[in-house]
Amino acid sequence: MSFYAEPIARLLEELERLPGVGPKSAQRLAFHILKGDDATAQRLADAIVEVKRRIHFCRQCFNFSAEDLCEYCRDPRRDASSICVVEEPRDVVAIERTGEFRGLYHVLQGAISPMDGIGPEQLRVRELIDRLGDGAVTEVVIATNPNVEGETTALYLARLIKPLGVKVTRIASGLPGGGDLEYADEVTLGRALEARREM
Ligand SMILES: [Zn+2]
Repeated sequence: MSFYAEPIARLLEELERLPGVGPKSAQRLAFHILKGDDATAQRLADAIVEVKRRIHFCRQCFNFSAEDLCEYCRDPRRDASSICVVEEPRDVVAIERTGEFRGLYHVLQGAISPMDGIGPEQLRVRELIDRLGDGAVTEVVIATNPNVEGETTALYLARLIKPLGVKVTRIASGLPGGGDLEYADEVTLGRALEARREM
């Protein structure tokens, strides 16, 4: 039996599915929405529906995008000779915040993890190699996370890309070990980019 009227219980159930939201936070969010006016609740609901309807993956780099090509791939001022490889769209945001990188991106949509049954064929590796075909790209900067899966992925990609005559670099260590790129502060991540080393 629930302590809540059915619509509230349903909202709580949905909120609790979100990462990092436990029962207490779900209750706080639900009551906040209930206390607010209808228009505010409608805007939140619309934003959620809209983001799912309009956002898909960039045709070239697999970052989130509202267009066929994302804002970075579309921008003629970006340096198309350099591609930074990351695991997730949120890592693009982390790198952009440093202001240290002016090239393009490639989002793998994960990392190699044999334990979870994730191999290169589950990632956007083939699409990355295809982008290197015309010789326009001279450097691939690998910015996968500094944990076992990220390092495995970096080594795998280096072995695959180097024979193509493209320089492969890896962002420097000094990032919080075992952590995710998104948790590194801008200065640390910026330094790691600047001090990248050839693999
Ligand atoms: Zn893109």
